[in-house]
Amino acid sequence: MIRYRASWILPISDPPVRDGWVAIDRDRIAARGAGGRRPAADDAREVDLGNVVVLPGLVNAHTHLELSYLRGRVSPGSTFIEWIREVMAARRLARASAFVKLLKA
Ligand SMILES: [Zn+2]
Repeated sequence: MIRYRASWILPISDPPVRDGWVAIDRDRIAARGAGGRRPAADDAREVDLGNVVVLPGLVNAHTHLELSYLRGRVSPGSTFIEWIREVMAARRLARASAFVKLLKA
């Protein structure tokens, strides 16, 4: 077990903890606490992370729904620039196609 100490622990489900710690056992959070309070019988290795904030991992849920219609029309690309060029080309093509449909209506 490893106990990581930090200036702040943000459990999210509870208020922030000043001078807290999180104990990790086999890649899982086993316990958390504040200051010197910790389980009595414990041989955890201590790692002081210093003046940092420890919080759960964040999930990037940001999306662009306006690009949904391009699904399958644009490859993932090996670089952002390559990908965005494909997106721009596909959008131009879609606009042109919509314009042609409008003219034929
Ligand atoms: Zn974005």
